[in-house]
Amino acid sequence: MSDITSSLAKIVGEQYVSSQPEELFFYARDPGLMPAHKPDYVVVPKTTEEIQKIVRLANKEKIPLVPMGAGMALTGLIIPLKGGIVVDMKRMNKILEMNEKARYVIVEGGTSHGVLKAYLEKNYPRLRHSIPDAPATATIAANVVIHGQGRLTQQYGFNSDMVTGLEVVLPSGEICKIGSCSISKEWFSKGAPLPDLSGLFLGWFGATGIITKVALRLYPRKKMRDVEIFVTDRDDLVPDIVYELTHTEMAEDIVIFSQPKPLIFKDNHHVTIFITGDTDEELEFKRKMIWDAVDKFIKTKDGGFMWVQPAMKPTLLEMPQRSVSRFADVKKGGGFEYSGPIILVERYPECSRKVEELSSKYDLGYSGMARIIGRGHCMMYGFAFTFNRADPDMMDRVRKALHDVSDYVLEIGGVFWKATVDEQRLAIERMDPNTRNLMKMIKNNLDPKGIMNPGNWEVA
Ligand SMILES: Cc1cc2nc3c(=O)[nH]c(=O)nc-3n(C[C@H](O)[C@H](O)[C@H](O)COP(=O)(O)OP(=O)(O)OC[C@H]3O[C@@H](n4cnc5c(N)ncnc54)[C@H](O)[C@@H]3O)c2cc1C
Repeated sequence: MSDITSSLAKIVGEQYVSSQPEELFFYARDPGLMPAHKPDYVVVPKTTEEIQKIVRLANKEKIPLVPMGAGMALTGLIIPLKGGIVVDMKRMNKILEMNEKARYVIVEGGTSHGVLKAYLEKNYPRLRHSIPDAPATATIAANVVIHGQGRLTQQYGFNSDMVTGLEVVLPSGEICKIGSCSISKEWFSKGAPLPDLSGLFLGWFGATGIITKVALRLYPRKKMRDVEIFVTDRDDLVPDIVYELTHTEMAEDIVIFSQPKPLIFKDNHHVTIFITGDTDEELEFKRKMIWDAVDKFIKTKDGGFMWVQPAMKPTLLEMPQRSVSRFADVKKGGGFEYSGPIILVERYPECSRKVEELSSKYDLGYSGMARIIGRGHCMMYGFAFTFNRADPDMMDRVRKALHDVSDYVLEIGGVFWKATVDEQRLAIERMDPNTRNLMKMIKNNLDPKGIMNPGNWEVA
């Protein structure tokens, strides 16, 4: 054992540390398209105190640290670009505290969305959280770190807007509480009425600290959930359709998809509207409001509601929606990756044409998927391409298509979501110089030795 391996073993126990090549092989990559890079060690801690000791060791020895959830962000954010220690959070998966009346839950920093969903269904069936369509192993802390979006994003904003408190191990090894929990035993607010310090960690991809606890807002779970699909072949009308729908404030979630296969979908835009209710009357009232809101587009014959066969409903209503992952199976060899910039809804027509243009330029299978954020304030537009992992040429074409998307996003006023390292660089170059300086001051002060997820948000 090297000195570092044995020091780590003293902290977490021998079976939870590895520097074996077989383990390092897996921790060198994520399921996306970014080049692999090996860590030197992998460690799987169980407590905040263990993380604190690992961080202090890394700090003393100037070893890079990469916090990792499920590794599902796909854009290479957990690839240890400069080697060092991957801190796999999966053993920190406990639900710590529940406040039913204030509707929030406190979970450990490696707790997955699947674990929280199962816990709530069993113990608090009247409550739910905003579930992303990522595989159920995806962790809550990482999802808010990358400003993820889920099933309640249309109503309440990014999943990170639903955070009500954090516990973080700083790069110095100090344990720091963020929000009301810093002065009270209650975790009801991440900021207001205090200065909101959560922004020092959310969006930073682990480059400013390791989150060991997250408090998250919960919302009422209605007894019934249903889905309507409004179809139009006029991409230019989609922003107006979304405006009318969001103005009703009746939808739980709105996602729009366009894809060339199966042929029934080709050249159409499917505005998928999820509604919920505790009674038939509530559901029917919401359905009527939704129908009335887009009636004018039906009258002009620009669109209409598609009959959603009962057999299709379970697939559309499941959370997370596994059909998203199944897009990887469109091509033999099972792979897909997407770029999901955050952009104004009025850019939908251009984005949907762009994804088609790139698919034909690079001869790729595609899917375009938009999720409305905060009642239409903006949207995530996913440019998704599928590939065969055994076909390096096809993978290279997907890389090129996604590279074109990066340039295009900036052209049309968008902002990268879960930006790759190259996109982070582009964003930093484009950023207002005073904002860039502020980021630099924050990073240099919190992490003067540059040990936290180095390569990410490096503001020179
Ligand atoms: C099929 C599919 C569908 C998806 N659908 C959605 C969707 O609907 N909505 C959505 O938001 N995302 C979606 N995603 C993207 C992604 O899977 C999720 O956002 C997921 O929540 C990321 O969590 P993770 O645990 O896999 O993160 P990881 O990839 O492990 O980590 C992401 C980042 O967080 C950092 N990090 C991890 N843990 C910590 C910690 N404790 N403290 C500090 N930093 C940390 C890492 O260093 C990294 O920078 C999808 C992905 C796939 C493959």
